[in-house]
Amino acid sequence: MKKPTPEELAALQAQDDLAHMQAAIELARGAALAGEVPVGALVVGPQGDVLGRGYNRTRLDVDPSAHAEIVALREAAWRVGNHRLGGCVLYVTLEPCAMCAGAIIQARLAAVVYGADDPKAGALRSVLQLAAHPQLNHRFAVRAGVAGAACATLLREFFQQRRSPDRAAPLADLESPEAGE
Ligand SMILES: [Zn+2]
Repeated sequence: MKKPTPEELAALQAQDDLAHMQAAIELARGAALAGEVPVGALVVGPQGDVLGRGYNRTRLDVDPSAHAEIVALREAAWRVGNHRLGGCVLYVTLEPCAMCAGAIIQARLAAVVYGADDPKAGALRSVLQLAAHPQLNHRFAVRAGVAGAACATLLREFFQQRRSPDRAAPLADLESPEAGE
């Protein structure tokens, strides 16, 4: 069998990234249906098998750490039986925050592929650059902007809907600064 050229390998990887991101987008849609901020994540093993799936469930679980990435990483670690997930790739629809970037480093992932940039909290590129921090001993590859427009649209539509006056009140109340203190 002929060895694939670097260009062919890159094209295959792009195809693969897109397919996995579509699955992460489906998970994000599930989050939106549950009233959660639509972010979905997938952990894929070195053989291309899906080891963990997650979507944002901070409200459902009443857990500030229940971001899509953490949920997917927990499932993958449980499945593999190891908290280190070397060689695995995380796919997520939104750029990971600092907490999730920390978990990615702890898990020793090989790469992170994400959709939309997060200009307010993104910790791989936008606000912090933790993927290649010179003082951290684990580095990982980052491929950004995969199906980025679709991922961003999902989030924008969710927040637009939440702000519209005719939607049910409880979520809006939770978000207001006066509530719950
Ligand atoms: Zn996060």
